[in-house]
Amino acid sequence: MQSTVTPTHCPYCALQCGMNLTPAPGGTVRVSERADFPVNRGALCGKGRTAPAVLDPGVRLTSPLVRSPETDALVPAGWDEALDRIAEGLGRTRTGYGADAVAVFGGGGLTNEKAYALGKFARVVLGTSQIDYNGRFCMSSAAAAGIRAFGLDRGLPFPLEDIPRTGCVILVGSNPAETMPPALRYFAELKENGGTLIVVDPRRTRTAEQADLHLAPRPGTDLALALGLLHLVVAEGRTDEAYIRERTTGWEEARAAAMAHWPEYVERITGVPVPLLRETARRFCEPEAAMVLTARGPEQQAKGTDTVGAWINLCLATGRAGRPLSGYGCLTGQGNGQGGREHGQKADQLPGYRKLTDPAARRHVAGVWGVDPDALPGPGRSAYELLDALGTDIRSLLLMGSNPVVSAPRAAHVEERIRSLDFLAVCDVVLSETAALADVVLPVTQWAEETGTTTSLEGRVLLRRRALPAPDGVRSDLEVLHELAARLGGGPSPEKRFPTDPEEVFEELRRASAGGPADYSGISYRRLAEENGVFWPCPAPEPEPTPVAAAVAAAPAPVAADSAVHPGTPRLFLDRFATEDGRARFVPVAHRANAEEPDDDYPVLLTTGRVVAQYQSGAQTRRVDELNAAAPGPFVELHPRLAERLGAAEGDPLAVVSRRGRAVAPARITTAIRPDTVFMPFHWAGEGRANTLTHPALDPTSRMPEFKVCAVRVEPVRS
Ligand code: SF4
Repeated sequence: MQSTVTPTHCPYCALQCGMNLTPAPGGTVRVSERADFPVNRGALCGKGRTAPAVLDPGVRLTSPLVRSPETDALVPAGWDEALDRIAEGLGRTRTGYGADAVAVFGGGGLTNEKAYALGKFARVVLGTSQIDYNGRFCMSSAAAAGIRAFGLDRGLPFPLEDIPRTGCVILVGSNPAETMPPALRYFAELKENGGTLIVVDPRRTRTAEQADLHLAPRPGTDLALALGLLHLVVAEGRTDEAYIRERTTGWEEARAAAMAHWPEYVERITGVPVPLLRETARRFCEPEAAMVLTARGPEQQAKGTDTVGAWINLCLATGRAGRPLSGYGCLTGQGNGQGGREHGQKADQLPGYRKLTDPAARRHVAGVWGVDPDALPGPGRSAYELLDALGTDIRSLLLMGSNPVVSAPRAAHVEERIRSLDFLAVCDVVLSETAALADVVLPVTQWAEETGTTTSLEGRVLLRRRALPAPDGVRSDLEVLHELAARLGGGPSPEKRFPTDPEEVFEELRRASAGGPADYSGISYRRLAEENGVFWPCPAPEPEPTPVAAAVAAAPAPVAADSAVHPGTPRLFLDRFATEDGRARFVPVAHRANAEEPDDDYPVLLTTGRVVAQYQSGAQTRRVDELNAAAPGPFVELHPRLAERLGAAEGDPLAVVSRRGRAVAPARITTAIRPDTVFMPFHWAGEGRANTLTHPALDPTSRMPEFKVCAVRVEPVRS
């Protein structure tokens, strides 16, 4: 047992709170405050405080499992047998149906090293184009809109510490009181400093309760809301004409699109009264600096990219982006949602956040990998499209760190697709609902048992440190890829091409990312340990500055230990944007209906989200007693008027029915929700699975499903 304190980071959300781990009886660890990490200054939510519970061998997997041909049950097996079965299962599909019949599905909780190795494994060893990850379901619309407008996506282009010093924040579809409570202090400090907090959310959440203004639009109409605000900004002469002229392109078209959205028309669409729109526009425009921050509310829509784009247009028209203490940012959800999309497990991208279709990017990364660039596959299907193709075009799947049976839209259909596979292998720390369907399950190490890097919602690359040994029978994901590469033909030296040491993988990732938008080449484990994280882009000193690095080189930065070392880039775009001409791009957008609107059969809107004591699909947190006591199961939140119409009382079981299925959960009656809308949290499986109901319509650009709104009917369940 180690006797020292190990400073590290929480395994859950994108805030990546710092925490200290010390050895505890029973071979586990105890969490304590780590005040030196500036983002959370020691504060943790209940998920972080109880995270060691999932290290318990009574909770997690400690042996590979294989499906018995005799009983069809999962039974313990040795590692060699399990790995051989996976190699055989994936190899048989590849031989029989071609490389693209084998797919890989990753996760936003994987470290950068794992995400990188998984992308390389898919493209080099399996030769498949079919790889994507669950981060597609998280922030992909914000990423697409950011790249479209600014030429670069980094969740927050400024550190969280800027929030209290700005003048106004509009928080759109974000509920940090439930998703990342330690972040609330930034908004509290904003208000203490005299700033304004405006929350846009169909529900009066615990975050909305702290706001100066709360706008509760009908779900799926925040695009129109942003356009209405932009209309008012123009009509009231609040645009920043010099900024628009000098730092943007495309204003006239975007302006014309916004002017077609009269405030009264927007009120009819959204339900937000015109005086409240006017007050919002005034409060946003009057201070010297202001921000718009989005999260899953506007992003998880089939028009998510345009919805985020509308909010970005508002920022650009008022001169807010790329200025001190101002701008647009996305509060990413998953622990490594940011890094997970930068290093090659996304269907269309290579490490360094490079485009897979860019010939120069292919040459560079292929050079690092020692393969022919022409042999690298092209872009594959997006996450939902990949899951939808299981059992048809795709016959075998290797899944790492994801639980789509609970977290994917139209989940019953996805479950059926997974069941129809010829072969499924899952690497996970627990027997999730998806792992329970696998032919082979591999038990892998988790946060406190392994070293690796993550990239927080600020774009701050962080070092998670190993604090205790993994139990017998458990291996790391990197070891799994190494062993499978050896079995499936990963070249003559799999130990070199798929190293198992995370730092060795990171060194290769640095080289692969060099010159790309997310350039990590100047970052090392030593620097991460000494500097408490480094913001990308951070190019190594030798090569010529990349376009992105040049775009941000003038940004203020922390003190570097050595002037030859790039200090990292906390703030982006202060001098120019990462587009070819250095200007941000307005994109004209217009309101459009949801993929599914209420009708006589399905007259109510459903929206989904999270509760503070559970995390994502709940695979880990549903195994923690303290969290289960706080949030034991799903519920249907509805307005008293709707409850009265249904004849439902608090706690009564309600069936929520959409065209895709039915979920049952107890009623939770509150005036905090619109009368035309019900809310369900999505952390649970079984009959209360909210994603049974959700709609798989996809955003045409980001391929984000429409999680946040669909039409349902609600019925009391009579016994
Ligand atoms: Fe962990 Fe997020 Fe909670 Fe912080 S806010 S302790 S990172 S789950």
